[in-house]
Amino acid sequence: MQNRRFFIKSSILASFALFSPTIFASKRKKYSKDMLIGKEKIKLYGKRYKMQKEAYLALEKMKKDALVSGVRIYVVSAYRSFAHQNKIWSRKFNTFRAAGYSVKEAVNKVKEYSAIPGTSRHHWGTDVDLADYNKKFLNNKVTHSKYLTWMDENAHKYGFYRVYTNNKFRTGYKYESWHYSYRNISKPMLEDYLKLDIVKILKNEKIAGNQVFTKDFLKQYFTNNVLGINDYLF
Ligand SMILES: [Zn+2]
Repeated sequence: MQNRRFFIKSSILASFALFSPTIFASKRKKYSKDMLIGKEKIKLYGKRYKMQKEAYLALEKMKKDALVSGVRIYVVSAYRSFAHQNKIWSRKFNTFRAAGYSVKEAVNKVKEYSAIPGTSRHHWGTDVDLADYNKKFLNNKVTHSKYLTWMDENAHKYGFYRVYTNNKFRTGYKYESWHYSYRNISKPMLEDYLKLDIVKILKNEKIAGNQVFTKDFLKQYFTNNVLGINDYLF
């Protein structure tokens, strides 16, 4: 898998924004640009949290089965639109700026855990942040809880995989024990996402700190963060 990932990364670096569609040629339906960057009003399911139907049903089944084993899964965050991600991004950016960080430093601090709007997997309705109901906060230090053990052993049976793993070779976001992706849909969505000209797309958006979003910065961000994921999700 490392080789395949290296191949994919090399291809993207070699032809950034000119990604060869033949590499991922398939007959399935294509996802629109607006859907992939969280700007399309897509059909979502759920009340407290929202996801695409198949992912939502899989998560509800997982929650139900976990409960039988005495594990209560709490959904912290699921689908987020571009506008929603932009609010999160701005709030964190402004906090760092107020604390005296430069624009570049603030951007770098925010992107340790948060995606630039338009690049979040939460836009897809396939990714979700989960926690132990008894804790209700995102904590990667709770390593021995019954909740995490159950998730490690069972989440994949429902199609959910950690994205930002503890693998020391992974780049980009820090380890997120809480972020899961419903692979069945997010994998083809990633394939289509990789074909977008994300540099051009982000240049036309109002995002705090975007004066430091040069082509080189975005290329590096894209390589490290968007591609810095669990190999199994490619
Ligand atoms: Zn997340």
